[in-house]
Amino acid sequence: MACIFCNIVRGEVPATVVYKDDLVTAFRDINPKAPVHVLIVPNEHIASVRELRAEHGPMLARMFEVASRVAAQDNVAESGFRLVINNGPHAGQSVDHLHLHLLGGRPMAWPPG
Ligand code: AMP
Repeated sequence: MACIFCNIVRGEVPATVVYKDDLVTAFRDINPKAPVHVLIVPNEHIASVRELRAEHGPMLARMFEVASRVAAQDNVAESGFRLVINNGPHAGQSVDHLHLHLLGGRPMAWPPG
């Protein structure tokens, strides 16, 4: 089944990749909701949080480590940033490949709408 984020991980669909290693890839969101909006995804296809298992621990740790690193690179580490994972229809998940949104560069409302 075609997955847009798998295609980005494989380099078959263009994206502004800001970080890549053996476990995760980070790239700029095509429709940014904040001045800094980066998606951090596992290289392996995992549809959502519901599919996560204990063996995904190292990959999950890497996702957060990379989020922190990209936040520093994009100068939002001090001003603050939000990390979001949408799951399922009510949360508005539109791509069925696990992704961590890194949002920053402006104040953000809480709770989100
Ligand atoms: P979600 O709604 O949580 O599933 O988030 C999916 C995100 O993927 C949205 O913010 C989209 O703008 C973003 N997106 C979809 N296609 C692409 C793409 N080809 N390159 C970069 N970001 C994308």
